[in-house]
Amino acid sequence: MPLPPTFQVRLVDSRTLSPSVRELTFEREDGSAFAFDAGQWVSLVLPRPDGEIRRSYSIASHPSESPSFQLAITKVDGGPGSTYLHELSRGATLTAIGPQGFFSRPLDKTGPSLFVATGTGLTPLRSMVRAAVETGHTLPMWVLFGVRHERDIFYREEFAELARKHANIRFVPTLSRADETWSGPRGYVQTHVPTLWNELTGLGLGTPHAYICGLKRMVSTVRDLLRNDMRIPRDHVHSERYD
Ligand SMILES: Cc1cc2nc3c(=O)[nH]c(=O)nc-3n(C[C@H](O)[C@H](O)[C@H](O)COP(=O)(O)OP(=O)(O)OC[C@H]3O[C@@H](n4cnc5c(N)ncnc54)[C@H](O)[C@@H]3O)c2cc1C
Repeated sequence: MPLPPTFQVRLVDSRTLSPSVRELTFEREDGSAFAFDAGQWVSLVLPRPDGEIRRSYSIASHPSESPSFQLAITKVDGGPGSTYLHELSRGATLTAIGPQGFFSRPLDKTGPSLFVATGTGLTPLRSMVRAAVETGHTLPMWVLFGVRHERDIFYREEFAELARKHANIRFVPTLSRADETWSGPRGYVQTHVPTLWNELTGLGLGTPHAYICGLKRMVSTVRDLLRNDMRIPRDHVHSERYD
């Protein structure tokens, strides 16, 4: 298999999405379009004083003809890569390697979909949903998103807006440490998977596909629930792990 391309990128914009997540917009230095499939990721080479490190990040934006793309990065306490990127200044250049990975969603082969994410596991799913919207895809796309607190629900307005405009999109944030003012779903994502899955199945549009992304513990739990307990065919359960 050929090695993925290496190219230079420049940080052109950044913004805070939640107390621990920053969105970084990079642009290819050579100005050419960045081609990738929704769900893929890039490696960034980070030149730290004690030596270069590489970290992988899912692409949060959807494929377009543009040279720019977005990443959303959780700041991990004491984590060298995420700390470096949270402190990166506009105009800085880095080496990127990609696109890479097989966690994608061919629009011509997929059915109704349940997307399940925790934290920045939402980013490749955002790319997939937005790619599908761009192509006028009308099958149900339901996004179940787990975080601890209400303030951690990033891209909230964007998903709410997508759901207002497109009847096939549903956004279900669930909080594992909700305070008493929260009236939405509570608990870990896996608590809500069977109900949402059964509702999706009940629409009679075919066996749904699940796209799961986040840290290993959640991904394994949801994957085992779907494959082993709920007996969903393996080729309908797709996942990406960050650790
Ligand atoms: C294919 C792939 C795609 C990824 N995409 C993203 C992404 O879009 N956004 C992103 O923030 N990270 C993503 N990651 C994780 C990222 O590559 C780094 O592992 C992360 O930034 C931590 O690096 P660090 O050097 O700061 O900390 P390290 O010292 O390398 O890691 C410390 C610990 O942080 C935990 N960790 C890793 N990622 C996260 C996270 N997102 N949230 C909370 N804890 C985490 C791990 O359990 C790890 O043990 C992805 C990883 C892979 C393999």
